[in-house]
Amino acid sequence: MTKTGHNRESRLFYQSRSRRPVIDHAKGVYMWDVNGQRYIDASSGAMVSNIGHSDPRVLAAMQAQMERATFAYRLHFENDAAETLAWRLAERAPGDLERVFFVSGGSEAVESCLKLARQYTLAIGQAQRSKVISRFPSYHGSTLGALAITGYTPMHAPFAPMMVDQPKIPAPTCYLDRDDLSNHDRGLKYANMLEAEILRQGPETVLAFIMEPVGGAATGALVAPDSYYQRIRDICDQYGVLLIYDEVMTGAGRTGTYFAAEHWNIVPDILAVSKGLAAGYAPLGAMIAPDRIVSPVLDHGGFIHGYTYAGNPIACAAGNAVLDVIEQDGLLENAASSGMALKAELTKLMASFPFIGDVRGKGLLLALELVANRNTMEPIAPQHMAAARLVDIAYDKGLIIYWRRTRGGYRGDHIMVCPPLTITPDQLGDILDPLRNALTQLESELKQAGAI
Ligand code: PMP
Repeated sequence: MTKTGHNRESRLFYQSRSRRPVIDHAKGVYMWDVNGQRYIDASSGAMVSNIGHSDPRVLAAMQAQMERATFAYRLHFENDAAETLAWRLAERAPGDLERVFFVSGGSEAVESCLKLARQYTLAIGQAQRSKVISRFPSYHGSTLGALAITGYTPMHAPFAPMMVDQPKIPAPTCYLDRDDLSNHDRGLKYANMLEAEILRQGPETVLAFIMEPVGGAATGALVAPDSYYQRIRDICDQYGVLLIYDEVMTGAGRTGTYFAAEHWNIVPDILAVSKGLAAGYAPLGAMIAPDRIVSPVLDHGGFIHGYTYAGNPIACAAGNAVLDVIEQDGLLENAASSGMALKAELTKLMASFPFIGDVRGKGLLLALELVANRNTMEPIAPQHMAAARLVDIAYDKGLIIYWRRTRGGYRGDHIMVCPPLTITPDQLGDILDPLRNALTQLESELKQAGAI
């Protein structure tokens, strides 16, 4: 076996030729490769492993379900695990969101939201509504429907001719603005861009607006001013546009409440959740919608949509056990308090590293933005791949933080620091020490290259 643990060529492929060490095992917030190298998982994978790795309570629940039935096709049987989880999600979802449609991941959840929205407007006789406005930058998934509403050029551009061109408005990147507006007014300024776009498109043609309440890797944990959220809700109501919250990353506790919508008391019309729902123990996602939207669709020939693995009993058993762990262990509270502590520590790093331009996020969905000049927020020239380089340096030091592609019309370099919601004060040190070292190394490399 070679140093990386590979003893032969891979037949698998992902996005590039680069290879990673082979995972051996993982426990809590730590992961070990087959060479015995330990990593701290400070990104929860891709903001997935919210309760940490290998929790025996989840493994036992999955084992118990496997011994009953591993698979039961939804058109042949209902299953207890899916029914129970649907009830529990309905109880926790905002407002009247109470009907649950299970899928296997985030892209599928977003696709489902778009198709439910469209079928609803057909059912109520508004067939001319088909446009879905989204934000730039944003990320909503890799399948062609979800990609069409994604504002992320590197992933979107090659496929543009194959997709419907959907309108985009700027994401509320207020931290870049140098105007004299108050934070409140900035929030309104960005929200009002939605109204302008609806009017430009023709309100009767607009089906929905989709947004991540706290952005993911495309924006680096972007949080809008409080005023933004209610104004967006009001605009959608005024023009009969459905408001879809993509909580694929923010849902299931990541921001310190079960759904991020709770921070602003917003009830979206449809909501997508995935990553933390089964927290990496099984592929699982869900769309949650109110009966006022679901019933007309069911009464109008049914919802013409669905996936083979929908409501998979093992995945739903994992989802139920993950929810138990979140509630028994007080992980929402921990995400809120540890998130605040970690954000404060990351903010302190700005004093030592002038090329950290901004620290932002909510709960344990946190990001650093690296810049050439903090005063002007001028980005580091893209050829330096500063964020990607930091991620690589950190990885070699046993610290996993989240990567994103920086090339392709994007400004800025963001690094996501999003450990499991179980993170303890001691473990925060295990993140911050190697992060400090990695930033020191990056700083000297960037200085040498004349980038900062
Ligand atoms: N929406 C958001 C907000 C996401 O963060 C992601 C994944 N990063 C997706 C959708 C797509 O999810 P998946 O990769 O599970 O298809």
